[in-house]
Amino acid sequence: MTYINPRDPHISTPNLSPTEPLLFAGGCYCKKLTYTIRLATKDEARTMVCHCKDCKKTFGSVFGVTVKVPVTGVRMTGEKVMVHKSDNGSGSYSYREFCNECGSTICTYEEQAKDHFRQIALGSLDDSSAFEPRGEFYCSQREGWLPEVPGKAQFWKQ
Ligand SMILES: [Zn+2]
Ligand SMILES: [Zn+2]
Repeated sequence: MTYINPRDPHISTPNLSPTEPLLFAGGCYCKKLTYTIRLATKDEARTMVCHCKDCKKTFGSVFGVTVKVPVTGVRMTGEKVMVHKSDNGSGSYSYREFCNECGSTICTYEEQAKDHFRQIALGSLDDSSAFEPRGEFYCSQREGWLPEVPGKAQFWKQ
């Protein structure tokens, strides 16, 4: 298994120009599925918390957190990716990609975004502190005991 760590001194040296792409590594629980995300700047990523029922089921938690990035920057490794396609209830499809060995959710995307974006599960990044949410979707379905993320955008729905 090869990790590309943006802080690896062999890859990221102090002499790099500011235009050098940023690399983020991640993978599933069993480590048989890994990926890298390459971004020109962190502004290319949009990280959101979502409290909708689909995210609760997908992530097995009471909310999901994803980092939306251009699909061109995402590279999956290994042969462990399983894709689940489902009717999202509004005349289109939702996709979920997960490890077919351990079941970890790696990313989600909608039919209309299929060729453009991936919403990477934040917790699947090797360094999940690399991105912070800009806001929250479906606050109408946030658990009553869960406070809002302070100072961030709050959307009743999406
Ligand atoms: Zn796995
Ligand atoms: Zn959601």
